[in-house]
Amino acid sequence: MTDATTQQPLIELKHVDKHFGSLHVLRDINLSIAPGEVVVVIGPSGSGKSTLCRAINRLETIDSGEILIDGEPLPQEGRELAAMRAELGMVFQQFNLFSHMTVLENVMLAPTDVLGLSREEARTRAMDLLERVGVAEQAEKVPAQISGGQQQRVAIARALAMHPRAMLFDEPTSALDPEMINEVLEVMISLARQGMTMVVVTHEMNFARRVADRVVFMADGAIVEEGAPDAFFDHPQTQRARDFLDSIK
Ligand code: ADP
Ligand code: MG
Repeated sequence: MTDATTQQPLIELKHVDKHFGSLHVLRDINLSIAPGEVVVVIGPSGSGKSTLCRAINRLETIDSGEILIDGEPLPQEGRELAAMRAELGMVFQQFNLFSHMTVLENVMLAPTDVLGLSREEARTRAMDLLERVGVAEQAEKVPAQISGGQQQRVAIARALAMHPRAMLFDEPTSALDPEMINEVLEVMISLARQGMTMVVVTHEMNFARRVADRVVFMADGAIVEEGAPDAFFDHPQTQRARDFLDSIK
């Protein structure tokens, strides 16, 4: 939590537009995220939430506008792009772990390959993180041998192993059985409490109420409404937001 007015935004989108063919998926998106801020993005399916996350990490190009990280535009390609991506950890709905590697190897891979850590350093860092997300005992297993909730916590540890400046979560609990959702949310809550800058796409409204500094509501590619969680959930200002909140009750 932080005072958004006094600091350079860590992530800033200015007039971002994107089309997929004739489909206008991002419409004049303006969004500033301060260091330490937790922004929860909600909205109906197809409203552009995933595209927004992917654009921030340059997994998607944009047609116009600007995306700045710490005031710097996103690099186009090459080493600078790889370095910038390393600063933004991303966690997806599907855990995307490498199935042929152990949990430990999954978490060690990018720090050795991209950051050039020794295997020893990477192993120590990985074990610390696996401990932190509560799966250290699973370190020598492959993903298929652990639960979905454990796999997603490994995916979070893997992203954290790069010491990112911010974390992007795209519906991290949507593919999980209900009894596993909380163990993942608890890890995210503790990250937020430790001051991590986070963008979280989720339908978990209790999480949003507890953790978000700000809720951003998207529909049809645009930010329709945003505000503090209690204000947004208790007194949505637009009919679109009211309809959406009714639909997920
Ligand atoms: P959300 O995450 O809010 O459900 P998305 O960002 O995934 O929304 O998608 C926004 C819109 O863009 C949807 O209509 C989706 O079908 C479309 N879309 C997403 N990815 C692609 C793609 N690679 N090519 C064409 N259309 C896409
Ligand atoms: Mg999505």
